[in-house]
Amino acid sequence: MIVKAKTGNDSLAAVYIAEMQDGGMIEFVESLQPPFTINEKWVLIISTLCGCPVECSFCDAGGNYRRRLTEEEMFSQIDYMVSKRYPDRVIPADKFKIQFSRVGEPSFNPDVIDVLRNFSKKFTAKNFIPSVSTIAPSGTEKFFQKLLEVKKELYDKSFQLQFSIHSTDTAERDKIIPVKKWSFPGIARYSEKFFSREGKKITLNFVLTEPGKFDTKILKKYFPPEIFLIKFTPLNPTFKAVKNKLQSYIQKDISEYEIAKQVTNEGYEIIISVGEYEENLIGSNCGQYVAASEQNNGMNLDGYTYKVKKL
Ligand code: SF4
Repeated sequence: MIVKAKTGNDSLAAVYIAEMQDGGMIEFVESLQPPFTINEKWVLIISTLCGCPVECSFCDAGGNYRRRLTEEEMFSQIDYMVSKRYPDRVIPADKFKIQFSRVGEPSFNPDVIDVLRNFSKKFTAKNFIPSVSTIAPSGTEKFFQKLLEVKKELYDKSFQLQFSIHSTDTAERDKIIPVKKWSFPGIARYSEKFFSREGKKITLNFVLTEPGKFDTKILKKYFPPEIFLIKFTPLNPTFKAVKNKLQSYIQKDISEYEIAKQVTNEGYEIIISVGEYEENLIGSNCGQYVAASEQNNGMNLDGYTYKVKKL
């Protein structure tokens, strides 16, 4: 793997763009989460696939799918970011999170399980929090069975599992995520097995669009608040979102939402993940530089504010 370029701001988030041996491009992210210091919380977001076959309607990573990344290639991304700051591979952060959620649906890649199993052979972390975010595509049952085993064995208290479902309306969910997926009862059945009282609740993530469909009755019917928490994420200014004329329901300057009140009244914990506005400008939390750069003749991206610096 050769890291070709970097964009962002070292004190908030940096996106690295790398070329793999076969010429495929990937990207990975280091994110600091103010007001936390890096010793309190440090988050890495890595790619699991080269491109993504799913093609969600707001995600620039969709399309140009080449292949799964190997265990070694996923570890290379982690090692690149860790060894820059901690050459001894000892990570002192109170919370050290790795999100398997940059480019690619992680359940399409069985090597993600090997990374989870072998992490401690390569790095020492005070509090390692693995985090898998998935759209729950059909045909991935074997992956999820293994994920359940590794979670119970090694990360029962710390593991964070997120299902990105984006709408409580099945037709709208299919439009946003245009592949065959687990049904809501299927997600609920698996989550009941995955959840443990000592561990973290399972996140249901919604990138709500305006006007989007969200019904708390459907939420309550399938997803008990004792097991699930609800997260609303803003729609980031990706090229695809602009092309598909999608508007974010969550806005930078608004902190109170009627839907959020309804969700809270039904007994759910809720996270409104507005994040740092500047992070959107960097494009570190959703916009996918690789796909976008391919559409824009190299690295001359004008969709994001921060310039891409060739390394
Ligand atoms: S949001 Fe995830 S699953 Fe959907 S296209 Fe992007 S990387 Fe793939």
